[in-house]
Amino acid sequence: MFKKILYFLGLALFGIFLFLILKNADLTAFVDTIENRSFDLRQSILINQNTKKHNEDIVIIAIDDASYEYILDNYGEWPLPRDMYAKIIEFLEPQQPKIIAFDLMFVKSMKSENDADNALIQAFKKYNNIFASMNFDNQPEELRTPPILPDKLSLGIKNYSDIDFSELTFTNCRTILEGIINATNNIGIINVSRSDDGILRKMPLVVKYQDKFYPQLALTAGIKYIKDTENQTIKDIEINKNHFAKIGSREIFLDGDGSAILNWYGPAGTYTYIPVYQLITTINGKTKLNYDFKDKIVYFGTTAASLFDIKTVPAGKVYPGVEVQATYINNIIDNNFINKINRFTTILISIILAIFIAVSVVKLNSVFEASVISVSLYFLYILVSYYLMLFCNIWLEIIYPLIFSILSFTLTIVIKYLIKSRDFETQYKLATTDGLTELYNHRYFQEQMLMQVEQAKRYNNNFSLIIIDIDYFKKFNDTFGHQSGDAVLRQVAFTLKKNVRSTDIVCRYGGEEMSIILPNIGKEEVVLTAQKICKRISEKKFKLYGDRESTVTISLGVATYPYDGEDASTLISVADKRLYQAKNNGRNQVGW
Ligand code: GH3
Ligand code: MG
Ligand code: MG
Repeated sequence: MFKKILYFLGLALFGIFLFLILKNADLTAFVDTIENRSFDLRQSILINQNTKKHNEDIVIIAIDDASYEYILDNYGEWPLPRDMYAKIIEFLEPQQPKIIAFDLMFVKSMKSENDADNALIQAFKKYNNIFASMNFDNQPEELRTPPILPDKLSLGIKNYSDIDFSELTFTNCRTILEGIINATNNIGIINVSRSDDGILRKMPLVVKYQDKFYPQLALTAGIKYIKDTENQTIKDIEINKNHFAKIGSREIFLDGDGSAILNWYGPAGTYTYIPVYQLITTINGKTKLNYDFKDKIVYFGTTAASLFDIKTVPAGKVYPGVEVQATYINNIIDNNFINKINRFTTILISIILAIFIAVSVVKLNSVFEASVISVSLYFLYILVSYYLMLFCNIWLEIIYPLIFSILSFTLTIVIKYLIKSRDFETQYKLATTDGLTELYNHRYFQEQMLMQVEQAKRYNNNFSLIIIDIDYFKKFNDTFGHQSGDAVLRQVAFTLKKNVRSTDIVCRYGGEEMSIILPNIGKEEVVLTAQKICKRISEKKFKLYGDRESTVTISLGVATYPYDGEDASTLISVADKRLYQAKNNGRNQVGW
């Protein structure tokens, strides 16, 4: 009992300790981070197996290290004069590209010649397939007054989902050349979303500013592409309650924060890169670029290390921002976004998996078999999640199911073995005790006799045995009935136990005969003990069936190892003989 209390106290203390440590830990964020890494792993496996085909129509014009050096050598400074972009546009347009998108911001504040700016503005006016980008932030008002943007740049969003856009709501905006804003509707946002671990897995579809939604660059360009090539009309965007944003015939899954989870096609350099200096030298008539831009989606962006637009994404640690944009529009055009299964369904699946594991642990006999089955079940689940991503672009979470599986496995094992050991204890008790008196039974008595002889022999000890028989019990039964006889048997058993040491073994020998094994007890002591017991029984008022009372007496016979015999059966027969001596001498006494 005391041990049990100590055990529970220890367990409670451990629980409180664990709670105090984990109280301040953001466990969901921890699990989410591991889950995100498992997503990265699945993506990189699929990429390495070349299962994903990127869109060959997307091409990147890169301000790479070589181009950066070329610009410094020929123009003296970065950025490139804006009329150079105008010239590049004029060079590309006759080849009829579908889209020309700038993942570069033509920021107002940058010093630049007015004429150069105007040339670029004219190009934006002239062609309706050129896209500029802008970025929102939360800079304080005293640094820069939040600009009022024209209505035409915003996008109508009907949100029927529980998506909360608060993380994608901004208070300020870095505007670009007013001339460009006036010249075109084709302006998109290039804000990114990052996970807790700093890795870019998602991109906002729209961001919120001054209570209006503004579309991402890839979305603005993507909508134009779909409108032009598939003759679809796209006005407002509706987000249904399952988090899908409908864009024409496409459905983009949005995560809880309103970001789309990108599906990656390959490591950095998957898309065709053309260094911008090759275009400039071609325009200047010095070289000839051999590339057909017809029907292409052309993205301008920086990849030069010194221009620093490098992100870490599931497809690689060093990934140019412009290729993120390319991946994004690729996802839109090919309707390839990742659809993450919601948390509720994940937990439900986890519970089902946990039940399967619990059942197999219960059904299987060996821990080894149960472990093999449980691990196999979980790996089967991982395989399913892998194929779901491969064939259906579905992100089925694997970490919550792992936690549930481990908990289910260990808990079921612990409970199973607790029950088993309790079963064993009851079985053992049933096999060794007598139901009526709760004393040890005859079989246990015989086993113990053999063991005591062994032990006494080895350690050169002595031990004693008392055999007890109730006097005239047949008559007692006849007088008071068997129920009263049984009650007396129970009370005699109880009195015996009370009058010996806890290490002494009290047994029901058979019928109304009982026996006591007394380890380390010699001849004189056992006679004294037997006489004490005899006296106590004779003095006791026994409660009988039907509120009556009566007295009984017993006769006892003793034997001691090694004086009376050196084996169990001799000792028993000696004690038996002395018991009958006591009976013959008038009962209610000890024979010795
Ligand atoms: P003695 O003094 O010589 O021992 O006389 P006795 O009547 O007790 O004789 P014996 O020991 O041979 O009698 C055994 C009796 O004990 C027979 C039976 O009626 C009674 N008895 C044995 N087992 C039980 C039991 O489980 N319950 C009850 N009520 N009586 C039992
Ligand atoms: Mg008897
Ligand atoms: Mg008797």
